[in-house]
Amino acid sequence: IKKIRHDMNRIGNELNKLVNRSLDRHVRLAVTGLSRSGKTAFITSLINQLLHVSTNPRLPLFTAVRDGNLLGAKRVPQRDMHVPKFGYDESMGSLLSSPPAWPEPTRDVSQTRLALRYKPQKGPMKLFQETATLYLDIVDYPGEWLLDLPLLDLDFMAWSKQQTKVLKGKRLELAQEWMAIGETFDPFAPADEVLIERISAAFTDYLYKCKAEGGLHWVQPGRFVLPGELAGAPVLQFFPMIWDHNYTEQQLQQADEHSNIGMLKSRYKYYQQHVVKAFYRDHFSKFDRQIILVDCLQPLNAGTESFNDMRQALDQLMQSFKYGRSSLLRRLFSPRIDKVLFAATKSDHVTPEQHPNLVSLLQQLVNEAWQTASFEGIKMDCVSLASIQATEPGFVAHQGSQVPALRGCNLEGESQTIFPGEVPRRLPNESFWQNNGFDFVNFRPLAQQSDEPLPHIRMDKALQYLLGDKLK
Ligand code: GDP
Repeated sequence: IKKIRHDMNRIGNELNKLVNRSLDRHVRLAVTGLSRSGKTAFITSLINQLLHVSTNPRLPLFTAVRDGNLLGAKRVPQRDMHVPKFGYDESMGSLLSSPPAWPEPTRDVSQTRLALRYKPQKGPMKLFQETATLYLDIVDYPGEWLLDLPLLDLDFMAWSKQQTKVLKGKRLELAQEWMAIGETFDPFAPADEVLIERISAAFTDYLYKCKAEGGLHWVQPGRFVLPGELAGAPVLQFFPMIWDHNYTEQQLQQADEHSNIGMLKSRYKYYQQHVVKAFYRDHFSKFDRQIILVDCLQPLNAGTESFNDMRQALDQLMQSFKYGRSSLLRRLFSPRIDKVLFAATKSDHVTPEQHPNLVSLLQQLVNEAWQTASFEGIKMDCVSLASIQATEPGFVAHQGSQVPALRGCNLEGESQTIFPGEVPRRLPNESFWQNNGFDFVNFRPLAQQSDEPLPHIRMDKALQYLLGDKLK
């Protein structure tokens, strides 16, 4: 009898293990946004908030924590061993240093895995288990990479035409050097790798300048400015053919493959297949949830061209979530993202009564594209948040009344109390740009205690939207 009982116990244990394993859940959360939108800060805060769940008083809107069902989280080794690990320890190191500093941003795809232990509330999980595990993979990638999707639908000549069309205003100014270097480029001469490398470097430099000096976000090809592991590789050495005045399109189309333009075409094709498509196939098609971070405040500061450019970049970026039957992505893979959250980041840069305006502005920015496209089966929402709150809101006396203000330290460490301005509720018109009183400064993060969760604004709302249903 003892033996039978022993065996039964053993079988019971095995069965339990099996059930546990099959009931463990898994979710891949992708985090993206254009560079400096706040991805590194967001992921650092997300991991930090989850690692502190059992004692975290700062997550009232995340029901799994509020109701005590999320018991704890720990970091576990990731499964995709070829993807670099997100540098959480390094990021926390910067925030905890004295004086505190913002983490160094990552420039490539990176990943981290958390195991979340929770008490299931319904379904077969509740029946079989007291506790279950949700494995959360957080994947971070530059939003610039999504700007490349339309390249899959354009051949080299069509892309060159499109690039020629956008060369105006600030872009044209910034392109002068590159255009001058390529002026004598002969598309039909035998392929000259050294020359192509030189012109490509000038083209890449122009793209960098668009971002850094022009405050522009729509740069293509996206990998040229965020090459990750491809830095210096020939696949990132080509440029659009914009000096084709002397030749007909047909002549250029039919050029020999060993000519200069032949080499540009073949590198462009390689980029399409091995960089753009590979990202969608190896990463994007496996995401379950997506958060897109948007810094609406920097373009408001920078002016109308920058703002409109960001709008265009966001429109392009959203193409990746259009899964209508005939969409480019649906033709290539079957993507499975079912929820997208747009988040206006760094909301601690403006006073709290401006936060609803920030959300409304973001909604306007993304809604038009959202309304006209078919985003089959994908839910979408907008929030404003601060991943790591660096200011304290308050009031200051001004001409006899109390006006809202923010207090914080600027990057040089000087304490400041300011009212950065009003965020427009709707897409800004001419008069906004003419009377633009909007001006914010960058704040240094507040000093932190290592055993306390990072201060934030509405990270719990984002967590609830992205993970709430997975922890039931
Ligand atoms: P990434 O390039 O998308 O990874 O952007 P980062 O996370 O590196 O953020 C860029 C910069 O934005 C940081 O260095 C900070 O100066 C600022 N920033 C990011 N998140 C916040 C936030 O929640 N509050 C404030 N005040 N600044 C932030």
